[in-house]
Formats: sequence, C-alpha cells, structure tokens
Amino acid sequence: MYPICIRAPFNRRVTDDKGRTMRRRFHRLVAAVGVAAAVAVATPVAVAVPQAGTPSQEAAPLARPAFRMPFICGQVWRGNNWRGHSPAHSVDWNHYNAQGAPDDFGRRVLASAGGTVVASYYSTGDGYGNTVVVAHGDGWRTRYAHLKERTVASGAHVKRGQVIGKVGASSATHEFSPHLHYEQIHNGSVVVAVVQGVRWYDYLDRRLTSTNGC
Ligand SMILES: [Zn+2]
Repeated sequence: MYPICIRAPFNRRVTDDKGRTMRRRFHRLVAAVGVAAAVAVATPVAVAVPQAGTPSQEAAPLARPAFRMPFICGQVWRGNNWRGHSPAHSVDWNHYNAQGAPDDFGRRVLASAGGTVVASYYSTGDGYGNTVVVAHGDGWRTRYAHLKERTVASGAHVKRGQVIGKVGASSATHEFSPHLHYEQIHNGSVVVAVVQGVRWYDYLDRRLTSTNGC
C-alpha cells in the first residue's frame, strides 16, 4: 500500500506553533513511509538539472512538451508541491470560489499536452483512485489522479486541452478533500513539473491562470 496524497494541502497550518510541532512529527512519519514507497514504486527520482556540458545533459529539458495547466482557459488554480507529498514532486491543484472556499469537485480536467492515453482505471493498489495517464512521446507522461470520473479510455488519442475527466476525491486508501493530483513523469520517474514555463520546485505553492485551449 503506497501513500498518495497523504493529506490535503489546504489543511496545513502555516503560522501556528502547535501546528508546526504536529506537522514536524507528521513529516517524520511521512518521510519514513515515503522512503519505503519510493523504493517500492519507482527508482529514486533524478531531477534534470541543466548543466553546461555534454549534449545529452542538455537534451532532456528540450524534449519536454510545453505542458499547460490541466484546466480550462482562464481558470485560476493553486498548485501546491507540498512537503511530504507522495510521490515527491507531484503537484496538487485546488480551485477556490470568490469567497475563498474550495470548489474543485466536478471541474473538468484537460490533457496538459497531446498524446495517447496509456492508462485509465480505478486504482486499488495505492491511493490514486480514478487515474488517467497520458503518454506524450520521448519518455514523457502525465498522470491525473483522484478523479470523480474518467472520460477517456486507454488507447485513446487526445489533443492538448481535451477533457479527460473531472476533479474528485477518489482513492482506495485515503480520504481527503477534492483536488487534482498531477504528475509529470520522465522515463518512469516523477520529476519536478514545468507548467506553462513555471518550474514547480518542491514546496512551491502558488496560483496560476490556465492558458490551456486559449
Ligand atoms: Zn497529490
């Protein structure tokens, strides 16, 4: 059993001393579980850090598709790559209404880039729940998890901006608030995501407006 999205990011308390203490304890637990999961799920993640040098080192970043946010043009979402998130480097997306309350549930999820759906299933072996994985070529994939519903089947060809499902809170192993769990995967490893030119370094928590399908 692998931990995926162990807790919802917006439950985090940033300033409260008591909350910080509890969070540190929780992180130690998460770290221990996370190491086991990382070993079981995938090889250790190697983040491509561009370095001056060989052509091969420079080739990987160039090969990444120009991924857009997986949401409708003009929508503002909060992307959070929070400490303790599993797998590392994944981004959780949340949407809020005008009053600041979460209103993610049922919103449409779009393909970040064109490609072929290589998985569309309800996962019982880990925390992903309803999951869609799209392959984009050159070893690049994107994963969309916890969906309320999936609207594409394995083998389907999708264009960038095509609806592939709806945001939900599905998971066989965890309960949490609705959000989209999103991964960019290169050669089998979840890597630091780059979305519309923004590099989602670990623990980055910021809002961005979708340009997908604009
Ligand atoms: Zn997540």
